[in-house]
Formats: sequence, C-alpha cells, structure tokens
Amino acid sequence: MEGVALRRDLFGEEHEMFREQCRRFVAAEIEPKVEQWNAAGRSDPETWRRCGAAGYLGANQPEEFGGAGGDFLYAAIVGEELSRVRAHALMLTLHSDIVLPYLVTFGTPAQRARWVPPAIGGELILGIAMSEPAAGSDLQGIQTTARRDGDHYVLNGSKTFISNGQIGNLFVVVAKTDPAAQPAHRGISLLLVEADAPGFVRGRRLEKLGLKGQDTSELFFEDCRIPAANLLGGVEGQGFAQLMQKLQQERLVIGVQSIASCRRALEDTIAYVQGRTAFGRPIAAFQNTQFTLAELATEVEVGQAFVDRLLVAHVRGDDVVAGVSMAKWWTTDLQKRLTGECLQLHGGYGFMSEYPISADYADAAVQSIYAGTNEIMKVIIARKLGLDG
Ligand SMILES: Cc1cc2nc3c(=O)[nH]c(=O)nc-3n(C[C@H](O)[C@H](O)[C@H](O)COP(=O)(O)OP(=O)(O)OC[C@H]3O[C@@H](n4cnc5c(N)ncnc54)[C@H](O)[C@@H]3O)c2cc1C
Repeated sequence: MEGVALRRDLFGEEHEMFREQCRRFVAAEIEPKVEQWNAAGRSDPETWRRCGAAGYLGANQPEEFGGAGGDFLYAAIVGEELSRVRAHALMLTLHSDIVLPYLVTFGTPAQRARWVPPAIGGELILGIAMSEPAAGSDLQGIQTTARRDGDHYVLNGSKTFISNGQIGNLFVVVAKTDPAAQPAHRGISLLLVEADAPGFVRGRRLEKLGLKGQDTSELFFEDCRIPAANLLGGVEGQGFAQLMQKLQQERLVIGVQSIASCRRALEDTIAYVQGRTAFGRPIAAFQNTQFTLAELATEVEVGQAFVDRLLVAHVRGDDVVAGVSMAKWWTTDLQKRLTGECLQLHGGYGFMSEYPISADYADAAVQSIYAGTNEIMKVIIARKLGLDG
C-alpha cells in the first residue's frame, strides 16, 4: 500500500508524534494480548487501566477531567492503531468516543465529576444499552421502563447485544420514563446504571460469528433501583435528542476503523500473494490477482479521502450527519467485499483460523449492522435528500 497511499495531510506534527507513541504502546501492551482475549471472549481490566494511564482513553477530552484536551483526530488515531492490530476485543472507541461524550456533554456537574475522571483513567469501563430483543433499529419501540419512586428510579426490562457487557461497570441505559408519551421519543431518557446497582443482572456472553474477543452480552434490570440523580442531565424526556446528537461521531468512528481494517487486510494479502506460488510463479503474477488488488487499493484510497474530509469537518463542528451516514454504509460495505476478495486470494488458507484474513472476513460482517444498520443509513440519507414523502 505504501507506494499508492496518499499522504494524509489532515494531521499535524503533534498528531504524528502521538501516532508514533500510540503505535509503540499498542505493539507492547495490546497486540500481544489479542489472541488471548479472542480465546477468552473478553479483554482484561488491567489493560484498560494501562490505556488510561498512558492517555489513550481521553485524548480529546477536557483537561479538567484528566483528558489531554486534543481534537477528535487524536481519538481517530487511537482507533486506527487498534484496528491495525485487529484489537477488536478492546472496545476502547466505544468507551471513549461513543459513551464518554454523553457524560461529558450532557452530564450534570456532579455526574461529570464522579464518572468522567475514572473513565478517562480506565478504572471505569463504559457501555451503552439501547438495543432490546424486540427493538434495535426501531429505538422508539423499546420496552425498558424507569419508574420514579421517591428519590430513585426503578428500572425493568432487558437489553441485548451490549458491548462491554461483562467487563463494563457503568452503562448508559435507554429507558422510557414516560411509556405513554406521544410521540414515543418524548418519553425516552438516558440513565446511568452502575453494575453493582441492586437488580442489575448480567446475562450471557453471546456466542457469535466474529469479534470473538468482545464480551457482547445480555443485560437485565429486575426492579433495579438507581438514585434519581443518575438521570443523565437531570431532565426527563431528553434521551432521544441526546442520542441523535451523538450519533454523528459514532458513525464516523465506524468509518475510520473500517478503512483502517481494510488497509490492514489488503497489506497482508499483498504480502501473501507474493509468497505463494502456483503454476511455477507467484500468484501475485496473475493478472486477476493484480487487478483485484489494484481495484481494492483504489477503493481504500477513495474511502480514506472521504473519511478524512469528514474528520476535518467534524473537528470543525460541521453538521455532517448525511456524510457520516454515507461513509458508514460505503466503508463497511467495502470492508465486507474487500475481506471476501482477499480471503479468496488466500485460497484454502484463507479459510483457516491460522490466517488473520479469516477473522477479518468474520469481523467485517457486523460493521454494516451495529451503530445503525446500513439500511438505516440510507433511510437517513434519503430523508436528507427530501425523499421522506
Ligand atoms: C456485535 C454487536 C455489538 C453490538 N453492540 C451494541 C451495544 O453496545 N449497545 C447497543 O445498544 N446495541 C448494540 N448492538 C445492537 C445493534 O445496534 C443492533 O443489532 C442494530 O441496531 C440492528 O438492530 P436489530 O438487530 O434489532 O435488527 P432489526 O432492527 O430487527 O433489523 C433487521 C433488518 O431489518 C432492516 N430494517 C429495519 N428497519 C428498517 C427500515 N426502516 N428500512 C429498511 N430496513 C430496515 C435492518 O436494516 C436489518 O437488515 C450490537 C450488535 C452486535 C451484533
């Protein structure tokens, strides 16, 4: 890839220095553990603490809470470096770039003071619990309720597919504080639920096709009592608006990591086809191999250019909801196709667990599903085009 990759001019000298440091840290502290995490089905809290101590959980969070106060490009660098070593077990970007911003942006001063510093330090691992067995894309259809009872809320309901479900210790939970509200989204609130709250029950770690090191789990709330002070932002009925505001960054994160994963799969495949021979020559010498890889390398560069443009716009504070929705479906579709074609170029070895391309292929499948399915991305784009009739 080196011969064709364009220089990415959005990063300054300090970003590049940060990337070098981050790459060294990832090589020493994270890459050696990926295999054991994948076998265990979870990462380990000690590594989270090390990431926090080294400054990788709050690279772009305010200094007053222990963050480094940088821009979002620092967070994107961390995400890219983790994808480069296939450290999908460590859902660090979910913690730092998806869940933590809810606390920082919407938290009351007391909520921020209590939870943001340990989250940046890695002592607290965050998750977000939106999806339910009967409601994923259609978030307004959730059935989890939070009933006010004196100075507490009592939560009842179940969530599924929750990342960091076994190792997380604070969850942003989407619940209905007013189940009768019309329209339904006005009755939705976000509540901060600690894993030691009475009535909080961790369910199974779910068996799945890919992301083997991720502890994707069920969570249950059985008359789970949490202090009323744990209502995010302190005002009921704000949940849906809060979620909508943060989805831009969530989808951008997927696009960033998707292109980084594509790049790694492609690099490994380029190396593989140069080493494998058939009919007396390297399979890299066949025109089919060359054209396939040339086309994929082109698409990775096209995708990178688009994602980089969105990163710059996001840092500037632009509304790029349509753009990130486009990037989310396009880059993840590319990742699924690219990993399939790279697997094919590996022949039978591509199907063997020993070769990382097999896991790349399996891991890619979920990219078009979570953080809003690719169909929902197209619904959003169509709406922005004025096509919602
Ligand atoms: C590994 C993994 C990790 C996850 N982590 C989390 C997490 O941490 N927290 C969390 O809350 N959730 C998480 N999820 C859940 C994820 O966000 C949902 O799976 C996703 O939103 C889709 O919801 P669903 O599975 O209920 O599918 P459904 O909503 O039932 O969709 C099924 C199909 O119907 C299509 N569809 C639905 N509505 C429309 C429409 N209006 N137009 C066209 N097509 C439509 C969908 O695109 C999809 O193809 C995770 C999922 C996985 C697999």
